[in-house]
Amino acid sequence: MKALVFHRPKKVTLDTVPDPIIEKNNDIILKVTSTAICGSDLHIYNGLIPQVRPMVMGHEFMGVVEEVGKDIKHLKRGDRVVVPFPIACGQCFFCEHQLSTHCENSNSNYGPEGGLLREKGAALFGYTDLYGGYSGGQAEYVRVPFANFGPRKIDQSLTDDQVLFLTDIFPTGWSAVDWADLKGGETVAVFGCGPVGVMAMKAAWLKGAKRVIGIDHLPYRMEVAQKSAKAEVINFKEHDPAEIIREMTGGRGADVVIDAVGMEADRTLFDKAAQFVHLEAGTLNALKMAVRAVRRGGVVSVVGVYGTTYDNFPWGQIFDKGLRLVGGQAPVHKYIDELLGLVRDKKVFLDDIISHRLPLDKISEAYHIFNNKEDKCMKVVLKPHG
Ligand code: NAD
Ligand code: ZN
Ligand code: ZN
Repeated sequence: MKALVFHRPKKVTLDTVPDPIIEKNNDIILKVTSTAICGSDLHIYNGLIPQVRPMVMGHEFMGVVEEVGKDIKHLKRGDRVVVPFPIACGQCFFCEHQLSTHCENSNSNYGPEGGLLREKGAALFGYTDLYGGYSGGQAEYVRVPFANFGPRKIDQSLTDDQVLFLTDIFPTGWSAVDWADLKGGETVAVFGCGPVGVMAMKAAWLKGAKRVIGIDHLPYRMEVAQKSAKAEVINFKEHDPAEIIREMTGGRGADVVIDAVGMEADRTLFDKAAQFVHLEAGTLNALKMAVRAVRRGGVVSVVGVYGTTYDNFPWGQIFDKGLRLVGGQAPVHKYIDELLGLVRDKKVFLDDIISHRLPLDKISEAYHIFNNKEDKCMKVVLKPHG
C-alpha cells in the first residue's frame, strides 16, 4: 500500500510499504477514507522530536473497518469509525481514570537514559518510537490496536469532513478549556490561530466564555479565527498582546489563557517580533506571553506541544500571580462521545477550517505548504481512496 514515510527532518515521501496485518486479537485493520496533517506532525517533520528509523506518520484519520481480530466485540467489516489519536488499552489505572494519554499498556518504549526525553507513557499513532513506534494513518490502511476501546462508529448522516477532527484537534481544544474549569462569563485568550487554537476558541464559547480573543501573526489565520470562531484578534507582530489584553479587561488580564502554539513557534520569529514591540528577546515565546497575559489567580492551559526540556521558565511570575498551570496531550477518549453529540446536534461545525482537500499522492507537497504556511494553508485533509 501507499503511505507517508518520515525518513529524516524535512524528508517525507509517499512510499510503497507492506500492508498492515492483524497482529493481536483486539486489532482491527482500517481502510483510511480521510486523514489530516497536524501541527504535531510538524515537530517530527522539523526534527524537534527525534525519529531515527523510517516511520509511517499520521494520527488524525478515520475510515471503514476492513478486518477485525478475534476478540473484537462491537465492530465488524464495513463499519465506519473515527479513531482517537492516543493508543490506549481501556483497562489500566490511567485509562480507568479517563487519562488515556497516560495508558500504561500501549507503549513499551522508554526514552533513553532513564526517560530523559520521555518517561514511560502512552503511545500515539505515527508519532515516533518514543511514543510507541506504531505506524500511523497517513496511509491507505492502518492497524488500530486496542480497537474495543478507541474507535467510535459514525452513521452515514455525517460526512468524513464533519467528524474527522474528533480524532484530535476538537477534543484538544476542548480539553484546554475544560481543564480551566470555566464557570461562565470568562475572557479566554488563545495564543495561536492555527487549527488547534481555532478549535479551542469554538470550545470556549460552548463552555460559556463571554469574550474570546485569538493571537497570531498570520493575517489569513486571524481571519479564520474571526470568521469561524467569532474571536477578536491581536497580531503579536504589531502589538504586545499582554498589554492589549489588559487594556481589554479593565487592566486585569484574561481569566484563562490557552497556549495553542507549542515549541513550533520559532525563536528567531519571536526575537524579531520582540525587537519590533520593544520587548526583551524571547518574551514572545507563546508560553511566557501566556503567563504575562493572564490575570492574577487565572489559569494558563497548555495544549501546544513542548517536547523537550524547557528552561528559563518564569516561575517567579507564576508564583507571584498565583497561577494555575495545566497542560498535556488531550485525553480524547474522555470527551469524544460528548463532542460527537455536539456535532450531530449542529451545536458546532468543525469542517469550516479545511483549506485543502487533496489525494494522498500530494501529501509530501502538503507537508511543505502546511509547514511554511503557504497558499493560506490552514488544514489539509487527504483522501487516500479518492
Ligand atoms: P499550527 O502550526 O498550524 O498553528 C500554530 C499557530 O501558532 C500558527 O498559526 C502560528 O502562526 C502561530 N504562532 C506562532 N508563534 C506564535 C506566538 N508566539 N503567539 C501566537 N501565535 C503564534 O499548529 P496546530 O495544528 O494548530 O497545533 C498547535 C499546537 O498544538 C502544536 O504545538 C501541536 O503540536 C499542538 N497539539 C497538541 C495536542 C495535544 O493533545 N495537546 C493535539 C494536537 C496538536
Ligand atoms: Zn494532531
Ligand atoms: Zn490503559
